[in-house]
Amino acid sequence: MTDTAITGTCHCGAVRITLPRTPDFVNQCNCTMCTKVGGLWCYFPPDTVQIEAEPGALAAYVRADLDETWLSTHHCTRCGCTTHWMPLPERDLDRMGVNLRMFGEDVLARVAVRKVDGRS
Ligand SMILES: [Zn+2]
Repeated sequence: MTDTAITGTCHCGAVRITLPRTPDFVNQCNCTMCTKVGGLWCYFPPDTVQIEAEPGALAAYVRADLDETWLSTHHCTRCGCTTHWMPLPERDLDRMGVNLRMFGEDVLARVAVRKVDGRS
């Protein structure tokens, strides 16, 4: 773990995300959503993460196949990369998820991958 901020981008570069430090681990979740977007999730309080996006470059998706939904998944409208998720405002959760795949292989190589069973 380092305390140096790291910045990643979507494939086209329209969305930039800066984390306060390299996370200790990422979660590789096997739920239907995470499997399809290929997320490797790390978690931070939203006020510690800086997200810069060109106008119109971010879109949110709220899955409708669950009885209870508590987050929206965000992706770049130009290249399609899923960059992060945010808790829905009514959930009052001080945690967001960032897809560490946006940060490149050199960052991923330093981080443990935990497999999480989010499907069952
Ligand atoms: Zn993009």
